[in-house]
Amino acid sequence: MANELPSSSPYVVVGAGIHGLSTAYHLAKELRTRGLGSGADVLVLDKSSPGSGASGIACGVVRNNYFQPAMSELMQACVEVWESDPAAYHYNPVGYIALGASVQEPDLTAVYERQQRIGYRSELILGADAVDAHMRSLFPDWRARGVTVCLHEHQGGFAFNLDSVEGLVGKCRSESVTILSGVEVQELELGADDAVTAVRTSDGRIEIGEQLVLAPGPWAKRFWAMLGLPMQIDIRTPSGEVVRDQPMWTYWNLQEGEIAVDPTMFATADGGPPPVIHLDTDAPLSTDGGDLVTDELWGIYFKRDRHGVQGGASPLVVGPDVELDPYPQTTNVDPGFADMWCAALSHALGRFEGCRPLYRDARSGGVGAFTADNFPVFDHLKPNVYAILDSNHGYKMIGVGREVAKVLVGEHSSLLYPFRFERFATGDLHPVSNSPYPWS
Ligand SMILES: Cc1cc2nc3c(=O)[nH]c(=O)nc-3n(C[C@H](O)[C@H](O)[C@H](O)COP(=O)(O)OP(=O)(O)OC[C@H]3O[C@@H](n4cnc5c(N)ncnc54)[C@H](O)[C@@H]3O)c2cc1C
Repeated sequence: MANELPSSSPYVVVGAGIHGLSTAYHLAKELRTRGLGSGADVLVLDKSSPGSGASGIACGVVRNNYFQPAMSELMQACVEVWESDPAAYHYNPVGYIALGASVQEPDLTAVYERQQRIGYRSELILGADAVDAHMRSLFPDWRARGVTVCLHEHQGGFAFNLDSVEGLVGKCRSESVTILSGVEVQELELGADDAVTAVRTSDGRIEIGEQLVLAPGPWAKRFWAMLGLPMQIDIRTPSGEVVRDQPMWTYWNLQEGEIAVDPTMFATADGGPPPVIHLDTDAPLSTDGGDLVTDELWGIYFKRDRHGVQGGASPLVVGPDVELDPYPQTTNVDPGFADMWCAALSHALGRFEGCRPLYRDARSGGVGAFTADNFPVFDHLKPNVYAILDSNHGYKMIGVGREVAKVLVGEHSSLLYPFRFERFATGDLHPVSNSPYPWS
């Protein structure tokens, strides 16, 4: 049955993922506390249902290991939101450990030093023996090789994806925000002043009173097209050189999986919940049977989950186009992924030796849409259209919605400013790290 749609709404938010819901909730609070309105002025539309996009499939890792100052500062604000209500967000503040090979020492040291400056609680351990001792104090069976740097973040951790989305849905409802499932936005009506006057949906037309917020996750490119924005862009690099005709959007597939074990077998030496672990190393990786998997830099991440241990490895490029629906499409998965990930778990911790038969391809992994520089675009793309296009960084970025809400009521956000679209033309790009991942 078609939804009963209002003919107009002051604020329409497209997408009920982490960003759309966080924006709707924080906007409702801003409107109420400033005496400008209430959550009844905010309407969220989702073509499926809350959490049916990337937010519902995310591994859920919350970390601040970002080489880019702007990402790090924004993440600090996001962790503040996670910490504000761990119960509602199903947030597990277990911390996060990044381990790297010598090539990553300068980057992780820079990240650590910035974290100390901004007051993000973390610890840096340098040198193979010291890293080994730190990890063995947590996990006596730690045995990874080729690791000379360890950044142990004592904040961050992970959250349960669909549960945290539900937590946000509850918060939206408590502020009288309306969330409509099964309403697909198909067209945007542009007025003479380039503002969007209405959205045309599968269930009817809604006029925009004040602002339209787009938070479509992996469907970013579709909305980019609706706004008439260029699919190829010129990028001015910080040196002044202009690289022409770069694709604005590229899809990557995030490879993730899990092993079915009693989750409590992955605990710290004192029986506590383990931090999320991200391991990069250049030590040769072999299966438990002794077959070489790779002798190049490799990396994995893993965390304790409800029904086992879950994690992933480097994503793979899919290309400029992909069929996203039904989401998540799992396309372009390396056939050797399960072997590699299980071998890597065993390389890290003796307790995972022989875990390959326990691997299962559960509800894990999926496609994300990445921008031309792999960093988010958070910006007004039309006078009354704010877009939250996070380049697949963003389940952890629950605080972006809080910042966007401030912008929607007329404030400036210095945390969001570095993510404006204009950066590609002005050369104000984010620095690039030595990490093999597109999101570090
Ligand atoms: C496998 C995987 C693992 C990940 N792991 C992590 C992680 O551990 N930590 C982390 O921080 N990030 C992670 N990410 C990234 C993170 O999940 C995303 O960046 C984030 O969830 C995006 O949130 P969103 O609200 O923008 O989009 P989504 O959660 O995708 O929500 C967008 C919503 O928009 C709706 N929609 C789309 N088009 C329309 C339309 N035309 N009309 C109406 N509604 C529409 C969709 O149905 C969807 O519900 C991961 C991503 C993937 C794919």
